[in-house]
Amino acid sequence: TVFADLGLSEKLLRAVEESGYKHPTPIQEQAIPIVLMGRDVLGCAQTGTGKTASFTLPMMDILAGSRAKARMPRSLILEPTRELALQVAEQFVKYGKYLGLTHALLIGGESMDDQKAALEKGVDVLIATPGRLLDLFDRGRILMADCKLLVIDEADRMLDMGFIPDVERIGSIIPALRQTLFFSATMAPEIRRIADAFLRNPKEITV
Ligand code: AMP
Repeated sequence: TVFADLGLSEKLLRAVEESGYKHPTPIQEQAIPIVLMGRDVLGCAQTGTGKTASFTLPMMDILAGSRAKARMPRSLILEPTRELALQVAEQFVKYGKYLGLTHALLIGGESMDDQKAALEKGVDVLIATPGRLLDLFDRGRILMADCKLLVIDEADRMLDMGFIPDVERIGSIIPALRQTLFFSATMAPEIRRIADAFLRNPKEITV
């Protein structure tokens, strides 16, 4: 399989080729066409498997072609740590160079004024840790009505770090009619219970 077989746009394929990737990894091969179809995904994959591109690439094609309004992000990627959020943002910039989508990184330890300014301009993709996202939401800086694509990444680490109540609250403020992609390195019963609450008829992918 090559990337061109997965249904991605020419602009994205060009950026992927320039990244030096020759072939999609197993999670990319399985997840990308399903995400492009609009289906929910329950992905069991560790970091290092190419998991990040398996959700960022199709998300970017879904979002390309329209624009976010002020304070109304169109998608949200939740990460348990600043470092993971930064890595996702780096990949987003690399793959998105021909698409013209906007993103903001909402993580602790960074200037909230810059984050507020970015939200005010309108953001297609929010990459956030749960605490900072809720902080800005509670300050009235984020409206969730247009946020129709949600990624919960590294759910097992979210659980270990005690973030599940925050993640559940985020689930309650984001539109119910949405597409959700849920990833975890393990599928313990507790993770499965959380996944069930977030997903509708998901395609399960294990690599
Ligand atoms: P991840 O599992 O998403 O953290 O990705 C692990 C690393 O693999 C990252 O540095 C990516 O840039 C790289 N990568 C992702 N997809 C591919 C691919 N199809 N071919 C080669 N490298 C890749």
